[in-house]
Amino acid sequence: PPLYKQRYQFIKDLVGKYKPKKVADLGCADCTLLWMLKFCSCIEVLAGLDICENVMKEKMHRLSPLPGDYLQPAERSLTVTLHHGSVAHKDPCMLGFDLITCIELIEHLEESELEKFPEVVFGFMAPTMVVISTPNSEFNPLLPGVTFFRHPDHKFEWNRAEFQSWALSIARCYDYSVEFTGVGPPPTGMEDVGFCTQIGVFVRKYSQTSETAHFEKPTKAAYKTVFKAVY
Ligand code: SAM
Repeated sequence: PPLYKQRYQFIKDLVGKYKPKKVADLGCADCTLLWMLKFCSCIEVLAGLDICENVMKEKMHRLSPLPGDYLQPAERSLTVTLHHGSVAHKDPCMLGFDLITCIELIEHLEESELEKFPEVVFGFMAPTMVVISTPNSEFNPLLPGVTFFRHPDHKFEWNRAEFQSWALSIARCYDYSVEFTGVGPPPTGMEDVGFCTQIGVFVRKYSQTSETAHFEKPTKAAYKTVFKAVY
């Protein structure tokens, strides 16, 4: 399957394994991952955030309940919300999540946004688990037609050492553990380059109830809600 589908499948597998109830996707773009996740029966709250309102709205109606959802109400409740805003800003709507995914997001952030990202996601949102994926630049020589970056909007592409040292320093600072993996395995004989997409899976080491998280973090809203569906 294409690489983006492997990334989404990686998240679906993780959801199947850990059964998070509240999941947010940062940089959700056209909401394809959120749409896939709405079929995971463990999930009760789904949220998406993107800085580009238009791309988010393109196919957001896929997230609305279908007639069958009303005729045969499911056992679980599900709320899906889309927010327009930046991962450089804190908003209380992102508190109390079990899993936050950032798929191919960080390499699109400006330097000033990337600097704020750890404090916003790990310090403020502080979910139980965070998944971050980004290109592994060591794989680029194997990609036909890629001479510099894989995409003109990428602000950087990191090798494994660069990504891992960034991730490890965040984990140390915000009291998370982190493990590295990826999707898109290298061809036989080229194993040295690693996965095409590198992935860090962070798990919070301290426990926190959503109540204390909210209580300690009075913050004004910074995002605009652009879509909400209640199943
Ligand atoms: N996660 C999706 C996926 O894997 O298919 C989309 C990845 S796309 C390459 C990167 C997305 O990040 C874009 O939709 C872009 O608008 C969004 N983005 C860029 N900067 C952002 C920011 N500061 N805050 C939130 N989203 C941002």
